[in-house]
Amino acid sequence: MANEKLKTEEGTNPSIQKDAKPLIIAGPCSAESPQQLVEVAQELKKNGFVNYMRAGVWKPRTTPNSFEGYGTEALIWLNQVKQETGMPFATEVATERHVYECLKFGADLLWIGARTVSNPFAIQEIASALRGVQIPVLVKNPLSPDLKLWEGAINRLRLAGVKEVGAIHRGFTVWHASPFRNFPMWEVALQLKANNPELRVISDPSHISGDAQYIELLSNRAINLGFDGLMVEVHPNPKIALSDAKQQLTPNQFNLLISNIFEAKQAN
Ligand code: PEP
Ligand code: MN
Repeated sequence: MANEKLKTEEGTNPSIQKDAKPLIIAGPCSAESPQQLVEVAQELKKNGFVNYMRAGVWKPRTTPNSFEGYGTEALIWLNQVKQETGMPFATEVATERHVYECLKFGADLLWIGARTVSNPFAIQEIASALRGVQIPVLVKNPLSPDLKLWEGAINRLRLAGVKEVGAIHRGFTVWHASPFRNFPMWEVALQLKANNPELRVISDPSHISGDAQYIELLSNRAINLGFDGLMVEVHPNPKIALSDAKQQLTPNQFNLLISNIFEAKQAN
């Protein structure tokens, strides 16, 4: 049985401020249908450790003609699923319009993806759209290991008055052969943590690995290195996922991952 004390409290508005509890975000790479979202949300609710369900609605794909998300329609599904299950939701924003749409449809947390973080104009636009709005925002690392660019994006949000800003480590682009889709370069994220002791920095083993078989290894590594939580992709049937099929866990695999990690933590 995983550590009861680390479970989320029913009915509380999850905070991303640094505290004793790890921040756990899980859910599909992309929102694909209302049924898919309800199924995942119910499973994540049962898990008891999940603060937010993630689901991408605008997908920044590398290759043209790939599935690019259902956009606003998927936000309507997410909002409905939140009302039915009580599971708060998180999604990715890349433009000012995305921010307005998310606020309109009740998103509980936003994140900025690795491709967008490399563009200060886009970040400034997003930061300005968030002025005066209190919603937690997590900033993924840029594709390249450029700590200043990552910190610059975080600071643009802080300067716009966003109070709850955190970071997500998702690894850096590799060219040479590697078992992982992205190179973790843990030291870059650890330096970000050292420079910003009050900042919550979580790890995204799904996008680092690109492969479900490495998620447990990378999650353990991240928790042992002192990361403040995890973002993990979970899909009811990863094989037929419309994006990132190879790296998503089933809800059962995710439950096992979480109980293995927190049992180990409790035993230490
Ligand atoms: C995602 O979270 O699904 C995503 C597109 O991630 P990243 O920006 O890390 O590539
Ligand atoms: Mn993904």
